[in-house]
Amino acid sequence: MKPALLISLAIMVYSLQAFAQTAAELADIWDKEHVSEKLPSNVRHKDLLGYVEALKKLDVKVNEIGKSGQGREIFQIEWGKGPKKVFLWSQMHGDEPTATPALFDMFTILQKNRDKDWVKAIENNLTVRAVPMLNPDGAEVYQRRSSQGIDINRDARNLVTPEARLLKSLRDSWQPEIGFNLHNQQSLTTVGTSNKQAAISFLVVFGDEAKTMTPGLDRNRRLVVAMNQAISQYMPGHVGRYEDEWTPSAFGDSFSESGTPVILIETGALHGKDEMFLVKMNFIAFLTSMKLLSDGGFAAFDPNGYELIPSNTSGRVVNFVFRNASIIDRAKPPAEPVSADLAITIERRRAEQLQPTRIRQVGPLLSVAGLDEYDAGEFNVTGRFQPLKQGNYGELLFYKKGREVNWASTDLEKEFPPDAVFSLGKWAVGEGVVKKRN
Ligand SMILES: [Zn+2]
Repeated sequence: MKPALLISLAIMVYSLQAFAQTAAELADIWDKEHVSEKLPSNVRHKDLLGYVEALKKLDVKVNEIGKSGQGREIFQIEWGKGPKKVFLWSQMHGDEPTATPALFDMFTILQKNRDKDWVKAIENNLTVRAVPMLNPDGAEVYQRRSSQGIDINRDARNLVTPEARLLKSLRDSWQPEIGFNLHNQQSLTTVGTSNKQAAISFLVVFGDEAKTMTPGLDRNRRLVVAMNQAISQYMPGHVGRYEDEWTPSAFGDSFSESGTPVILIETGALHGKDEMFLVKMNFIAFLTSMKLLSDGGFAAFDPNGYELIPSNTSGRVVNFVFRNASIIDRAKPPAEPVSADLAITIERRRAEQLQPTRIRQVGPLLSVAGLDEYDAGEFNVTGRFQPLKQGNYGELLFYKKGREVNWASTDLEKEFPPDAVFSLGKWAVGEGVVKKRN
């Protein structure tokens, strides 16, 4: 091995160790001091106003910088007095909320810890501006689009929405040297060829179709490598790389083109963890970048590591799979029920709302894994309200094979109480009766 390579390996090992510690400190400080309380998907504009007031009480600079289509206030937070300009914005898609409370946690914790050396370094070297919840109208009704029905992230060129005009003017007038575009991706997105959910995915957004590498993009790759290392400790294998497709009408691409190289952070979901865990991962990722931008530490990370982060994939997992169910169609019960696997997905809703489920597929599902899988081989299964067909509700009634059941009954559940009922993604009756496979 060449000496130069050995030295760079030694540096990498050192920075990895220093880094694991840094991430642990960030996790610890978030555990102790975070101010976000509501699950992000439950946060509405009135909650945002509360977070804004709390920041103002801490003497953090927060200004109303515009209004949404329906007249809701949009705010910009500013912190730090350094020469390097860092710009973040969240929730331009109303139903993509995770980063919004993470931003409030970040500014609160920075403000309260100004006696710490690493916070001083950020304060003296960076000026950080953030727009949390750029699309409050969409957030209010938990929809992607603005109140005008427009996808703000396809409005960077046409500028039809007040929200897009505002975001563009904030960048153009300030010319930040880096941007963080904060979103949520589908909860069933997976990492590479694994069946692991992509709890967070990154993209260093090119500024042209030819994908020209620039110093800013090289720096962003190093930052992503660092953020990946920091958060992967808490969820190994659950970080992916978002699809890289030139979209000039999107803000990331447009800002990168205009001289503010953008990092896209897409939060997904992680089975068994709630939304607050993902807020914490966002917080660790943001502050990892802030620290490395403030002291130049990003230079120690190998930009080629970016290419090693596996790409996002889809279609590999669903929320639930019921294997080998004997499917009964009550409208026309066959002599012999059909044995099949049932794949069921949950629709995106606020945490406080009911979670409707849909049948994604019926049949032999050899290449699809369930985050939860059940062995339904001992059961006849029929739809509670609708036949078990693709697109229908995933409401299931389970009857042990061998039981006498009149499938034509007009009041089936009452006359023939099921052994188990799966409803709204949970066992409403008979939990544990249908055996789990994983
Ligand atoms: Zn989005």
